[in-house]
Amino acid sequence: MTSNEDDKACEIAIIRRKVDWLLSPLRLSHSDLQRVQALMRQEMELGLGKETNARSSVCMLPTYVRATPDGTERGEFLALDLGGTNFRVLVVRVAEDSIRIASEIYIIPTSIVQGTGVADLMEQILPLGFTFSFPCQQLGLDKAVLLNWTKGFNASGCVGKDVVQLLRDAAQRKENFALNVVAVVNDTVGTMMSCGYEDPKCEIGLIVGTGTNACYMEEMRNVGTVEGNDGRMCINMEWGAFGDNGCLDHIFTTFDRLVDEKSINPGKQRFEKLISGMYLGEIVRYILLAMVEKQVLFHGKPCTKLQTKDIFKTRFLSTIEIDGLGLRKVLAILRDLDLHATFEDSVLVREVCQTVSLRAAQLCAAGMAAVVEKMRENRGLDQLVVTVGVDGTLYKMHPHFSQNLQQTLQVLAPKCTVTFLQSEDGSGKGAALVAAVACREARP
Ligand code: BGC
Ligand code: MG
Repeated sequence: MTSNEDDKACEIAIIRRKVDWLLSPLRLSHSDLQRVQALMRQEMELGLGKETNARSSVCMLPTYVRATPDGTERGEFLALDLGGTNFRVLVVRVAEDSIRIASEIYIIPTSIVQGTGVADLMEQILPLGFTFSFPCQQLGLDKAVLLNWTKGFNASGCVGKDVVQLLRDAAQRKENFALNVVAVVNDTVGTMMSCGYEDPKCEIGLIVGTGTNACYMEEMRNVGTVEGNDGRMCINMEWGAFGDNGCLDHIFTTFDRLVDEKSINPGKQRFEKLISGMYLGEIVRYILLAMVEKQVLFHGKPCTKLQTKDIFKTRFLSTIEIDGLGLRKVLAILRDLDLHATFEDSVLVREVCQTVSLRAAQLCAAGMAAVVEKMRENRGLDQLVVTVGVDGTLYKMHPHFSQNLQQTLQVLAPKCTVTFLQSEDGSGKGAALVAAVACREARP
């Protein structure tokens, strides 16, 4: 080798060492994941117990949904869906063997929900199912007290109030009419219910989108927070808050702590901040900044634009990680961020994205492994066959997330055969279905 080649090889080795040093805290071993799974299981048990619930970071909220659909539900229902980005109003027709969206009336960015004429069409006195994708203490199927906002929301005057009553009051006050709200559901529950219409084995709902969360059918005898021991009830886990009591501190990296500190809810939704779409881009951004500082990226040149919060979108991960995507495309994404990257730089950026999204999928799998293993034990089975209804942009758009999730889950819960069923408009249809089940049960 010439001394020039020598220098080059030496430089590459040094960079590699620095990169590995920066990324290794994000690379979780099998036993790390098993520990997360065991912790999730422990928090689930605490959350279900009447005396211990307050100590758990996983709320395990009862939903008052006691059964997945049985197929005899019929009729037209209104569904309101207040989720991560949009507020939607749908008319849903539940027929013999299909649930269809008869019409979608409104999609409004949530920021401008107020003052639009949504009310006009809700005046149709159809029974209404309300999907409200935030943590609520449910006091019944149609009564839900908001515990706290998540995902960057923070409208004042709502926490501690019944969101169904707030909705009714707003309709009454603004447009002077009564709403016939029969059910309020979390989006995980809506997703489980709508997939359950197609597949009776669907007894789990999962969202990996702007936020993340899961729900599943738990035995009433294990639900210490609700009277009665018969049958099952769907539990909205609110697993995004897993770790808010410090039990996951050992896996948080410097980057995770930065993301948390700069968010509008520091100390809250710590598990969500490792997994969901609202945060993955931010984690990547902080890693890239550290790499620039350590002189391994962009020749160590300071990048002003990269200092801007949320400038690195999670959808960039989804694009950058597409197999066979030319590095030229990666360069183009980086150029839009005013980052003048070399080919080596773009290879590194891709590695960072892969590391962050892989960890997210693996952690999600560890949580899901705790859920399916608990269900298997609950039912005294050697082998559990179960379906997860799933929705969310990250799950649907990312090229490897779902595969990484499923592979890791299989390793962590080998006694469970888990199928993932993607939902189409699950949260809206699901809310209508819960309303339909409620109406069916109310029939004389
Ligand atoms: C909320 C959950 C919701 C999840 C997915 C979380 O931030 O707390 O209620 O299910 O996002 O939308
Ligand atoms: Mg949603």
